[in-house]
Order: sequence, then structure tokens, then C-alpha cells
Amino acid sequence: MQEPSDLAVVRVRHPLRLRLLRVTRVEAVTPHLLRIALAGDSLADFVSASFDDHVKVLFPAPGQESPVLPTLGPSGFVYADDAPRPTMRDFTPRNFDLEAGELELEFALHEAGPASDWARQAQVGHQLGIGGPRGSRVIPAGFDWHLLIGDDTALPAIARRLEELPAGARAVAVLEVEDPDARLEFATAAALQVHWCYRRGADSGAESPLLQAVRALAWPQGGRDDSAYVWAAGESGAIRAVRQHLLNERGVDKSRLHAAGYWKRGAQGVHESLDD
Ligand SMILES: Cc1cc2nc3c(=O)[nH]c(=O)nc-3n(C[C@H](O)[C@H](O)[C@H](O)COP(=O)(O)OP(=O)(O)OC[C@H]3O[C@@H](n4cnc5c(N)ncnc54)[C@H](O)[C@@H]3O)c2cc1C
Repeated sequence: MQEPSDLAVVRVRHPLRLRLLRVTRVEAVTPHLLRIALAGDSLADFVSASFDDHVKVLFPAPGQESPVLPTLGPSGFVYADDAPRPTMRDFTPRNFDLEAGELELEFALHEAGPASDWARQAQVGHQLGIGGPRGSRVIPAGFDWHLLIGDDTALPAIARRLEELPAGARAVAVLEVEDPDARLEFATAAALQVHWCYRRGADSGAESPLLQAVRALAWPQGGRDDSAYVWAAGESGAIRAVRQHLLNERGVDKSRLHAAGYWKRGAQGVHESLDD
């Protein structure tokens, strides 16, 4: 599909930077989502151009308060031969306040994993390494409406997108979380419709609650709307199935859909772009 220039998705590259930041605040957004504010002088030139961005977070080894950071070489991180490699995971820059010099990340808590375990025990003064963002996919706000689909891991990106959409924009969010306690209130100037669905009590052998909720969605204007942009992220298998449904059964054009696996059941630290 040939996009009018104001609806073209723009890719921006950023010079790779590696920053050591310290925790300044830990607050529960919901019982399942922790917001952690980070500060450091190196944030003075931090840039995050899109809600779809991610930073690589480098975690301290269990029991340590600071990570062992690599150095930056011409083609990325360089590790000393004898130094342990820090565990890395991708997280969304949820909010960046240049004046306050503060970057907020939000961690969806799950059963166990280095990132989730670190967040649970994080205290003011602990340190993290942050690499990137290396690039941004800037999705224009000017589409007739925005469909945002995701699970807990996509909530930071979706909440940020909703905050950034201007008055006059229309957005529909379809969100899967554990139970009603995990719902958020969104701050947005857009006209917003939210559909929550829950894993608790769902039949684990059946389609994901997210796919069922997307299937059940009555699209604005009752059918296909060419001027919609769909953004979807969450568990890889669930998002793959949502994407197939949107392409095959709803007639969404590939150029108007971005889907990503933010994690994969049974695997560690997975990031899959599901676009082709
Ligand atoms: C571009 C991008 C942006 C992301 N932004 C965020 C963000 O802002 N906030 C956020 O919380 N996550 C975000 N994620 C997802 C996060 O990186 C993964 O959930 C990551 O796997 C968590 O690492 P971990 O060390 O806790 O678990 P891992 O060591 O990676 O995994 C351990 C086990 O837990 C499972 N697992 C991983 N994540 C979850 C989960 N959420 N629920 C249930 N089981 C899980 C794995 O399948 C595995 O079996 C993002 C991912 C990408 C690719």
C-alpha cells in the first residue's frame, strides 16, 4: 500500500550509548506491574522517539547491587575475557523526563526470571546498565484510529502511546492481564475504548484470551477501515495468532500492522519481530 507521506512509518537510528543508572524510586502501578525510576548524568542525551522503542537492560548478578558493564566498540558491546557477561533483557522506555533527569521503566512481574526477580527486590541506590535505544519506529498519530493489542509486557508501550496521542485521535486497546486487579487507568487525550481480558479462569488449552477478545471486537464503522494502524505485542505464540487473524480474517494490510513477540513461553529473553 502506498502511504500518504504523513502516514508513513519513519525509522530513526540513534548512536549506541551504554549508561549506568541508579534506582531513585520503586512504585507499584498494580500488584503485577512495578514502575522503577532511574537517574544518572549520562541521561542528559537520552532519546526515545517512539513508544515502540526498547532499551537493553543489563542486570547485576544475583546478590550484587551493580552490573558488570561491557565497553562500547565500533560494532557493539565488548566484553573483557575474564568478566562475567551480565544478563540482558529488553524493556520499553515508559517515560523520560529530561528536566528531572529520570527514566522510568515498568516491569511486569511473573513467576521467575532474572529481570522479574531483580525488579521484585529493587531498592533505591541499586544500579542497572541501559543500552540504546538503537533505533525507533515512529508510527504517525494521524491514522483514523489506532488499535493497540497486548499483554502485561506491552502495557508500558501502550500506556505511553495513549499518553502521546493528541486530542481528536481515536484508539481501541485490547489488553490481556492476569485478573481485574491488573487493570490500569490510562491518561490520554484520545477518545479511548478499552477491552480487558483475563488469563485467570481461562481455558489454557483453548485460544489465548487475547485472540478471543480481538475476534470479538466490533471494529469502528462495523468493518474494515483502511485508515487504522494496528500495533500488537506480547507472548510470541499469542501475537502470531492475533496477527494471522487480523491479516486473514479482518483484511488488515501488512503495511498497517506491526506485531512483535515480547517474550516466548518456555524460552528466555526472546524478541521476535513477526512482520514479514
Ligand atoms: C521490545 C521489547 C520491549 C519490552 N518491554 C517490556 C516492558 O516495558 N515491561 C516488561 O515487563 N516487559 C517488557 N518486555 C518483555 C520482557 O523483555 C520479557 O518478559 C523478558 O523475558 C523478561 O525477562 P525475565 O528475565 O524476567 O524472564 P526470562 O528469563 O526471559 O524468562 C524466564 C521464564 O519466564 C517466562 N516469561 C518471560 N516473560 C514473561 C511474562 N511477562 N509473563 C509470564 N512468563 C514470562 C519465559 O517464557 C521463561 O519461561 C519487552 C520485550 C521486548 C522484546
